[in-house]
Amino acid sequence: MSSKIWLGKLTRREFRTRMDAGELKLAILPVAAVEQHLEHLAMEHDWRSARLIAGAVAEQLAPHALVAEGLMAGISEHHMVHRGTLSLQPGTFLAVVSDLVDSLVRAGFTNILVLNGHGGNIAACEAVWDQFLRKFQVNVHFFPYWNVLTKEDAIELLDSGARLPEDLPGHAQEFETAIALHLFPENVRQEVWKDQTDPKPSMATAEKGQAFYERIIARVTDYARDMIDGKHTHAIPPYHP
Ligand SMILES: [Zn+2]
Repeated sequence: MSSKIWLGKLTRREFRTRMDAGELKLAILPVAAVEQHLEHLAMEHDWRSARLIAGAVAEQLAPHALVAEGLMAGISEHHMVHRGTLSLQPGTFLAVVSDLVDSLVRAGFTNILVLNGHGGNIAACEAVWDQFLRKFQVNVHFFPYWNVLTKEDAIELLDSGARLPEDLPGHAQEFETAIALHLFPENVRQEVWKDQTDPKPSMATAEKGQAFYERIIARVTDYARDMIDGKHTHAIPPYHP
């Protein structure tokens, strides 16, 4: 991927020049989790996929989108029985997301897409998003990337089931395993992948992962482009009279 899409790869002069020229119209902030993904998938799955999707979408929108470095860990208390999982308390997670969004607003961004890759982050963010909109006064969206996938996609591409969200995205099931087989197959432990009590992950293929990935990139790009073009804006909620 081009180094021009990563905020952290730019110097302050390069950033300033592009922002002042009006070129930078959207910041994508990936947030995810580093947590257990059953016996066969590496724990980085949510973070690595969210970051890769953010980068691919930013490339589609070049030179108008930058990926801020994001937040790799998320709200994963429900996975902590499996050692190695990293978890942030909900308040910690929200405080860091808020500070990162604040930094992007102060840098000049008026469209910010917090691109989520972990289900455990959803409830906390949805609960406070109205407050974020009032506080930041910009078009800031929280969006789990799999929201662009439909039941029809699940029926077409999944053999293990088509329930949303149990099967799509699911957790380390056929969908996530297929994404890993396509994007980073070294994270799938071949020796245990098809040898677990849960048979669903074994139905994944790299081809299905590629089909899902291409749909995700195309549709998240459309979503982000609509944000830039003013077709998809969150209204600032009213203040209490
Ligand atoms: Zn996951």
